[in-house]
Amino acid sequence: MNCWPCPRGPSYSLYPVLAAIQGAAQNPVPLNPDFSLPALKELKQGKLWDFEAALTFITTPNAPGGRGYGTAELEGLCRLIKGVVVLDEAYVDFAREHALPLALKHPQVIVSRTFSKAYSLCFQRVGYFVGHPELIGALHKIRDSYNVNGLGQVAAEATLDDLPYYQDNFKTLIATREETGAQLERLGFRVFPSQTNFLLVRPPQFPAQDWLEKLRKRKILVRWFSAPEVHTALRITIGTAAEMERLVKVAKAILR
Ligand SMILES: *Cc1c(COP(=O)(O)O)cnc(C)c1O
Repeated sequence: MNCWPCPRGPSYSLYPVLAAIQGAAQNPVPLNPDFSLPALKELKQGKLWDFEAALTFITTPNAPGGRGYGTAELEGLCRLIKGVVVLDEAYVDFAREHALPLALKHPQVIVSRTFSKAYSLCFQRVGYFVGHPELIGALHKIRDSYNVNGLGQVAAEATLDDLPYYQDNFKTLIATREETGAQLERLGFRVFPSQTNFLLVRPPQFPAQDWLEKLRKRKILVRWFSAPEVHTALRITIGTAAEMERLVKVAKAILR
């Protein structure tokens, strides 16, 4: 199984856990240092990527790096992969592109989505796949009889009754993300390009873990991961414009 990118990627921390539960052989593939995907040519030459893997996960946009991968780039990869490819689009509502056309075109490609992030329903556990009827049929065979509870279904359907409300929220969030990124850059943070509802940033002056503590003391909570690929960075979830202004103000005070 390729999980791309796994902790070495780095990527969604649950993939290696779920793969281990199944006893699957894992093949995490590292990303470039800026969290972009290595070029196809490099992947082929480097032999890190297993094009014969039975199952491949690609998270797009990715976490915690925040990068979104273009549909054309993903299609180049999908064409070469024989096994099932899961394109995990948990953050897609904050991105410029989505990869549904690939799931509709290539029978081995399946797109996964969730109501947990953009629709704030993480406690309801509702998600879905889009893919070829044969793949969906295979998933029907192995899924639990009672896998999505009734309340979750009602809640998910209710979001669809009010899509313009959510779409407005996505726009606001994206604008706040871009503004916050620009302001942090002015303060000397390295801000990685994000197509998600968070920013991964490399803070100046103090180690990232110190920033975590300094912000926490001022009642601002961010994430810090100890994994070697990201331990110099903080992951900052995008809140309201006022919350993000507060973050920038506090960051200025810390730097003074
Ligand atoms: C949150 C998340 C999921 C899981 O979504 P659930 O529907 O809450 O299980 C899957 N992939 C990524 C990358 C995520 O960030």
